[in-house]
Formats: sequence, C-alpha cells, structure tokens
Amino acid sequence: MKKIIEKFINQVESRNKNEPEFLQAVTEVAETVIPYIVKNDIYYGQNILLRMVEPERVISFRVAWIDDYEQIQVNRGYRVEMNSAIGPYKGGLRFHPSVNLSILKFLAFEQIFKNSLTTLPMGGGKGGSDFNPRGRTDTEVMRFCQSFMTELFRHIGPNRDIPAGDIGVGSREIGFLFGQYKRLKNEFTGVLTGKGVTWGGSLIRPEATGYGVVYFAEKMLEFQNKSIRGKKVVISGSGNVAQYAAEKVIKLGGIVISMSDSTGFILDKEGINIEKLNYIMDIKNVKRKRINEYISKFPKAEFHENRSPWGIKCDIALPCATQNELTHLDAKKLIDNKCICVCEGANMPSTPEAINLFHKNKILFAPGKASNAGGVAVSGLEMAQNSLRYNWSRKEVDEKLRTIMNDIHESCLIYGKSENYVNYVKGANIAGFVKVADAMLAQGVV
Ligand code: NDP
Repeated sequence: MKKIIEKFINQVESRNKNEPEFLQAVTEVAETVIPYIVKNDIYYGQNILLRMVEPERVISFRVAWIDDYEQIQVNRGYRVEMNSAIGPYKGGLRFHPSVNLSILKFLAFEQIFKNSLTTLPMGGGKGGSDFNPRGRTDTEVMRFCQSFMTELFRHIGPNRDIPAGDIGVGSREIGFLFGQYKRLKNEFTGVLTGKGVTWGGSLIRPEATGYGVVYFAEKMLEFQNKSIRGKKVVISGSGNVAQYAAEKVIKLGGIVISMSDSTGFILDKEGINIEKLNYIMDIKNVKRKRINEYISKFPKAEFHENRSPWGIKCDIALPCATQNELTHLDAKKLIDNKCICVCEGANMPSTPEAINLFHKNKILFAPGKASNAGGVAVSGLEMAQNSLRYNWSRKEVDEKLRTIMNDIHESCLIYGKSENYVNYVKGANIAGFVKVADAMLAQGVV
C-alpha cells in the first residue's frame, strides 16, 4: 500500500513542482483515501483521485489599479475551478500577500471534500490575489476590488462559480465586488455569498464558520461524555472565524483565555468575556488595528509579541488563523499540557507531523475540512435563499447549521471510527470522497 501511495504522490509532484501546500493537502487525502479505493472495486482502476487533483480550470489574470497617490499598482488575481461533479464551483477569495497558486490549489482541493461533507450540492473552487488590504484606505480597496471583478465576472455566475470571503475578504470587500459584478452584468443574482443581510445575504453567515467549529468540537466532546463548559480554550487568530468561535465558546460556558494575530498573542487569565470580545471585534473590524491594543484597555492581560499561543496550558485548542501555524513542537506542548481536543477553524493549520502526534496520543482532532465546513454550508443556504427570493430567520439558519455540523460528525464516524478512537481525518476524507467519486463515475470520463 505504501508503494502505491508513494507512486501516486510522485506522479502528482512531478506535475506540480514548487507547490508544497498543494502537495501537503493531496498527500493527506491520498494516505487515507487510496487504501479505501484499493478495497472497493467500483473506484479501483478509474484514476479518480488523479482526476480530482487536476483542476478543471485555472484562471490567472492581471489586476491593475491606481492607489491614492495616483501610482499604478499591479497585482495578480486567480480563480481555481477545481471540481464541479456535485455542483457549481464554490469557495472563498483570499486577499493576502502570501497568495500563490500552490496555496489556492490546496484550498480548492480541500474545498471539494468540505463541500461534499456539507450534504449540499456544491463543487470546489478557490481564488484570490496577492493584494494586501492592510494599510490601504477604503477607496483603494474599492478600486482594487472593482479592477479584480472586471476580469473575474466573466468566469463566475450563480450556476457556474460562486465565490465568498476568506482571509482579507470580509463584508467590505464582498460589497465592493458584488457592486462591480452587478454593474457589469446588469443583473442582481446570488453570485457571491457573504453579502449584507439587506441585499441578499443570509443571517448567521458571518458567524457560521466560527459557530460551526464549536458545534463540531462540542459533538466530539459529547461523544466522549465531555463538554465545553468550564474548559479553558486557546484560539489563534482574531479575524472572522476566531471571533465567532470565541463568542460561541463563551456562550456555551467555556473560558477563552487567548486570541492572536500575525503580531503575537494576548493572554487573559481571567477569561475573555463578551464585553472584552466586543472590544476585540472593534479593534479588528472597525479600527483595523493590532491585537496588542487589547492590553491598553485590559492591562491585567499580557501580550506576547511574535509568538503563537500553543504553549499556554489549555483543554481545547482552536487554530483559526492560517495554514501550517501549528507545528509538531506546538502539538507536543499542547499534549504535555494535557489538551484534550484540537478542532481546526482555519484550513490546514496543523502540519502533518502535528496531526500524527495528535493521533498517536489519542487527542480528539478535527481537520478543518470537517470542522470549518459551517461557513460554506451557510453560504449554500444563502444560495438557496437567493434562488427562493426568501429569507430564513436567524433561528432557522442556526438550526440548519447545527444539523449540518452534526451530520458531518456522523459521516466522520462512519468511515473513521475504530474500536477506541475516531480518526476524523480518515472519516472526513473518505466520506467527502465517496460522494464526489460516485458523481464523477456517473458522469463519465470528462
Ligand atoms: P480573517 O482575515 O478574518 O482573519 C485571519 C486571522 O488570522 C487574523 O487574525 C490574522 O492576523 C491571522 N493571520 C493571518 N495570517 C497569519 C499568519 N501568517 N500568522 C499568524 N496569524 C495570521 O480570515 P478568516 O477568519 O476568514 O479566516 C481564517 C482561516 O479560516 C483561514 O485559514 C481561512 O481559509 C479559514 N476559513 C475561513 C472561512 C470563513 O468563512 N471566513 C471558512 C472556512 C475556513 P492579522 O489581523 O494580523 O492579519
């Protein structure tokens, strides 16, 4: 089996040189899915995984725009349309200087499995740009978004490809992107999700990824007769996912003691309550400042510059910032400190070595493609509401989100449960694979 997997990875590597993040994501899936394929005649010999790792389409384009000093700036825009076997391409747009094809292909590949797990009919895609919104004025961000959409609009549509937000793309950017799409197409359609609630957005969409992560963690703990109540929780990041994960943890009686951003982490041993969290939301979403502002308001807290929070003693860790932010050394610290559950909010935040350590030590570990699927799930619900021209209430959407997260947990159990441990990575990969593979088989070699 090892040889078959190695051969497959070598084949993918030779065609995708210099794409380490993409190879990392493919390797993780191959290691769990290939043994399943080999055991199941209907998939064996069909080269399904080899077809899945090849994007159906990759679009790369120039984004030229003029900054506030009348200087011409040039960025690179992308859309990776990875797989449309079970529905139109769906996945976020990321604006961050680190964006390149390897990162977007890993995200688009993960998105195939994640979207499949949601039980909704959505294919996998991802896009973005190396544009950095940090330090840019609102008018500069608007001009960039307008230029970006002036090319992207011809490749997307409510039945073709429906982008959403991701790192660096929040409600402000979605607004500018949607405005330009509408102007170019002269039609009001649900082409983007994460829209404002007064113009087609779904209630609970901003909260969905963070809430979903905590619903999933709750389910994992419940399966072991434990709960979040009274548990100390460390969260990395302080963006969209981290903020609403923190809110849900607090509401369920957990104690959030740390949050972070790319400059370092804050530690508040008394716990970050809702009032303090509102302050963080104001710092990050309105003032667009750094997390260390927190200690000027709450001086009993500490700020640790340029460090990640994984050395803090905690029961639950929710990595909600970015890929590969939790290494095997971090995993070791968490295990030594008796952490019982790691539930990913970000995409691929734990390195493969860290995941191996969690598995070896029987830590409850959920991969992002399962635990952070709540965001895209509610995006799917936003698409449904747009088609129906109808809005569901907050309670209705939250209940649907909870049901979807519970269903994803069940799917992980079907394929990942053994006698005394649940391997959620294996469970999520195989459950996500089966639905897409069946559709691909039915649709022939395309
Ligand atoms: P945001 O841009 O709102 O927040 C990102 C947070 O992560 C910020 O606090 C940012 O710090 C921090 N961060 C970014 N890069 C680094 C880095 N290299 N080192 C340390 N911290 C970093 O993004 P989201 O919250 O939307 O996304 C976070 C993660 O969740 C991503 O992996 C994303 O793909 C994933 N995700 C998001 C979904 C969504 O619905 N938004 C859905 C599913 C997954 P700073 O403010 O300093 O930049």
